[in-house]
Amino acid sequence: MSETLFIKIINREIPADIVYEDDDCLCFRDINPQAPLHVLLIPKKPIQKVMDAAVEDQALLGHLMLKASEIARQEGHGDAFRLVINNGAGAGQTVFHLHIHILGGRPLSWPPG
Ligand code: AMP
Repeated sequence: MSETLFIKIINREIPADIVYEDDDCLCFRDINPQAPLHVLLIPKKPIQKVMDAAVEDQALLGHLMLKASEIARQEGHGDAFRLVINNGAGAGQTVFHLHIHILGGRPLSWPPG
């Protein structure tokens, strides 16, 4: 399978505005932001979709959730932000490397589109 865009960002083959990185994950600003805060948090492990995560990924998924809150706080959106994971093309997923959208900085209506 060919390398996804996000693997290229992890490997610094294409540029991104990185806001956080550790051994297991990377967070960068979305190129087409849908809110004042719109960053993508991805595991470095190339899991295509959240439904492809396995039991062995449990700690990694937990790590991502905790980091998402930390990053939202760090970006100044402490208790008013939304986490979105699109799973599959039918749900709007366009890049097949698991990512959490972290959105904030404007009123977020419900239900989402
Ligand atoms: P999804 O539709 O859930 O798969 O989300 C993919 C996201 O990746 C979209 O919000 C895009 O705007 C974003 N995106 C695509 N290419 C890049 C890029 N080179 N740098 C940052 N974000 C990107």
